[in-house]
Amino acid sequence: MEFKTDALVLRTADYGENDKMITLLTADRGKISAAAKGVRKAGAKLSFAAQPFCFAEYVLAEKSGRRTVISASLHDGFFGLREDIGAFYAASSLCEICDKILFEEIESGELLVSAAGSLRRMCDASPVFALLGFFLCALKAAGYPVRAAETCPVCGKRLAGRMRFDMESGSFCCDGCGKGVPASEVTYLAIRRGLGERAEGDLLDGEKRALRLLNSYFTYQTDSELSTLPEYVRML
Ligand SMILES: [Zn+2]
Repeated sequence: MEFKTDALVLRTADYGENDKMITLLTADRGKISAAAKGVRKAGAKLSFAAQPFCFAEYVLAEKSGRRTVISASLHDGFFGLREDIGAFYAASSLCEICDKILFEEIESGELLVSAAGSLRRMCDASPVFALLGFFLCALKAAGYPVRAAETCPVCGKRLAGRMRFDMESGSFCCDGCGKGVPASEVTYLAIRRGLGERAEGDLLDGEKRALRLLNSYFTYQTDSELSTLPEYVRML
């Protein structure tokens, strides 16, 4: 049986003499893997389809649970990512988040659109902010939404200054209510911006801290650790 799907390459691994296994974030089947045969031969027509960050429409054949790439038509290869080390690490972090948070058969269309849009923004504009927005979107898709309301959900006081982030509920509360780990106002503001709310403050410092906080939250919720994201944050 053959099927067609838009997909983004999250990870690749060599196998056999000339082949690769690729892990894809698809529009309608969650995360799947597929064999890309012959793609390591010189001049192979489909070698582009087995490169990290390749966003394409794939035609895959499925037989007894195994999938093989038949053809692919490129939407975007995000080649700008290879020219900027920071953007490259941000994009690798994005792929790692998808790889660790997603499973087969989960609803993934919205996440694929967000991933492709974020990779484009990483090529053109701010990789940090694009990654932060994507991380929030991925956490939400996986069932761990982050909330940064204007007021404390416990006492209703307007959030400002020192506050806390509750790993259990994924929300900020005031320091007085004292639930969760200490969090700074710039972190909170960066997360509000990442969620599409209006917020001012020190952009880069807040975004760095926000990525660090989300990394801890990710590990708390999923029991798995990201390796590229902490490296990226250290580079900033
Ligand atoms: Zn409170």
